[in-house]
Amino acid sequence: MKKKLKIDLPEFVEIGDNKLKNLFKILLFHKLKFKEILLLGDSKTFLLGGETIASIFKKEKIKILKHLISNSDEENVENIKKFIKEEKPDLVIGFGGGKVLDVAKLAAGKYKTKFISIPTILSNDGIASPVSVIKDKNNIPISHITKAPHGVIVDINIIKKAPIRHIRAGVGDLISNLSAVFDARLAQSKGIEKTDSMALTLAEAGPISLLQFKNKSIKNNEFLLCLAHGLIKSGFAMCTVGSSRPASGSEHKISHSIDYLYSPRKTLHGEQVGIGTIFTMSLQKNEYLDKVKKLYAQIEFPQNLKHLGITEDEFIEVIYNVKNIRPERYTILEDKKLTPKEIKKIIEETGL
Ligand SMILES: [Zn+2]
Repeated sequence: MKKKLKIDLPEFVEIGDNKLKNLFKILLFHKLKFKEILLLGDSKTFLLGGETIASIFKKEKIKILKHLISNSDEENVENIKKFIKEEKPDLVIGFGGGKVLDVAKLAAGKYKTKFISIPTILSNDGIASPVSVIKDKNNIPISHITKAPHGVIVDINIIKKAPIRHIRAGVGDLISNLSAVFDARLAQSKGIEKTDSMALTLAEAGPISLLQFKNKSIKNNEFLLCLAHGLIKSGFAMCTVGSSRPASGSEHKISHSIDYLYSPRKTLHGEQVGIGTIFTMSLQKNEYLDKVKKLYAQIEFPQNLKHLGITEDEFIEVIYNVKNIRPERYTILEDKKLTPKEIKKIIEETGL
């Protein structure tokens, strides 16, 4: 985990109520200059607040161009890149879930156009990270490192309207940092990799706060704020090292392996890594496992392979295929090299 000389972090983060209504003022407050804006979203998010955003800028006589993103794939990235190249907007605003933000971030990063991330759901830690996950021609999600968003604006009123399933997935992606951080420290202890302790501390701060949170209810505003702060810290941890390492270890390898073997999928990234985390934490003998299971039960997070639509034998295949996923990234799975019998034993012990 090499530290980059220049850390690429967002310039500002705004989290709270009614942020969307004050969007114009927020951008001016952060000294942004713009005459032309490209607003990216999908059909659902344009209904949720896209028109509100457009009307705010129209009122201020700012030219606003709108473009729909239909999927987080290479075709959509190419379309948006072409659009940015031709129109040369001063600012790109992504208003949507992970798919919209991933496409917008990667396309804006290509031309170094300032990108403002406004998530409508908190389903993963891509809202403030330099990582974009884009499906390739075979429908397999691939992670790309790009420029971090210039600004991140989280409006809790908008987030509260998101389907609960997506919020749960965000919890899964944040909690998975505990497994990823363990793996990074393991690689360090074996002398395989030099880790950045500040980035790892930042990555685990969010999930630890969430575990300590008293009123663990997805409908609770404070819990959502804690989740938002945690996902942003996770993004910052990745920014400081220019890599997903602080937030992506063995549990993400399991999720990528599932995507590779059993795509297309209906389950969310956060659900896959959240379930994978139970397996890897058990293998790691991770001190947080019991607390994680308790949190999952409290928020009704799915805790079994059945939810992933994967049988026990298919899961064994998933674990065996992990060796093909980021082989340079050492984790507990490379350390233990499990037999099918050992995999089955963990599935049984954890109730997966
Ligand atoms: Zn993730």
